[in-house]
Amino acid sequence: MPDLKLSSAELRVLELRGLIARYDYEYYVLDAPSVPDSEYDKIYRELQTLEQAYPSLVVADSPTQRVSGTATNAFGSITHRQAMLSLNNAFEQSELEAFDKRIREALGVAQVEYAVEPKFDGLAITLTYEHGVFIQGATRGDGYTGEDVTHNLRTLRAIPMRLNCENPPQLLEVRGEVLMLKRDFDKLNQAQLAKGEKLFANPRNAAAGSLRQLDAKVTATRPLTFFAYGLGVAEGVPALTSHGAAMDYLASLHFPVSSARAVVRGVQGLSDYYEKIGQQRQQLPFDIDGVVYKVNQFNQQNELGFVSRAPRWAVAHKFPAQEALTLVEDITVQV
Ligand code: NAD
Repeated sequence: MPDLKLSSAELRVLELRGLIARYDYEYYVLDAPSVPDSEYDKIYRELQTLEQAYPSLVVADSPTQRVSGTATNAFGSITHRQAMLSLNNAFEQSELEAFDKRIREALGVAQVEYAVEPKFDGLAITLTYEHGVFIQGATRGDGYTGEDVTHNLRTLRAIPMRLNCENPPQLLEVRGEVLMLKRDFDKLNQAQLAKGEKLFANPRNAAAGSLRQLDAKVTATRPLTFFAYGLGVAEGVPALTSHGAAMDYLASLHFPVSSARAVVRGVQGLSDYYEKIGQQRQQLPFDIDGVVYKVNQFNQQNELGFVSRAPRWAVAHKFPAQEALTLVEDITVQV
């Protein structure tokens, strides 16, 4: 006799995957979401919960098993030397405690040191420097292959074209986020309105749409900025043993890095940081949708490794939904 509960779960799983595929396309390809992130996160969670309850329904191409996004044909494609993964999410205090417990048990330590940072709500990119000179930049795409947006990235003043150091590394990949400041987003939409042109849904989509322009001259007119939050492949760099040290190194090379980054200990340190940044959220000049916690020591990160779509040593602790997607019905594709 067929398991009726399983078959209704199967139907719902298919329905959720269909919805997520549509929302991913609107968000990652068109830069024009039709639902708020909180709605997306809700159905993604439902899918995760169903797959956990019915492991036989898990398939390799489920959104829970891979990095969302795609490299469109509009740009040349670039294969990442090191995969650009996503982050697992925590919404509740209990999930945070479970994350810390998993890490402590896997490492066999009583307390963990974490590097903590704001979670920038922009577009993930990777920058490649050879012998200190910027040579290439790409979007995350599906995590393995991204779009070649080198020309567009050259128009961002916040991105160094040459590293600030006397003995530059042979090869350095810098990972970070392209953003639009809230005030610049407001000005851009006012200008769009005055010209009778399409409006952007929010700063994140304005940043993504502005960077993913076929004509770099258009990108040059858009007020984009950048924050670095990590390293990819690095050859010939000074010995770096922690994420905190890597961020200090990036700052010394003149990359913009968050001044709100810190190193804390244990789950109490994480909760205190979440509270503090949550209180500052409205006053920050750019949108953040949470904070990110990373095991600070690189040897511990290596020991923990990765699952299919995200590192085991990091988690994004999301803030409650704040956005209202009021403009979305008015916008169309800006790429
Ligand atoms: P994510 O945004 O939850 O987390 C991974 C990303 O965080 C990284 O790729 C990186 O770009 C970014 N990040 C920002 N600050 C960082 C820091 N300090 N350190 C490391 N990474 C940092 O995951 P995702 O897979 O990129 O996107 C999923 C999210 O996107 C969803 O949870 C949802 O909020 C949103 N989304 C919305 C829709 C929609 O239709 N509204 C559709 C798809 C995705």
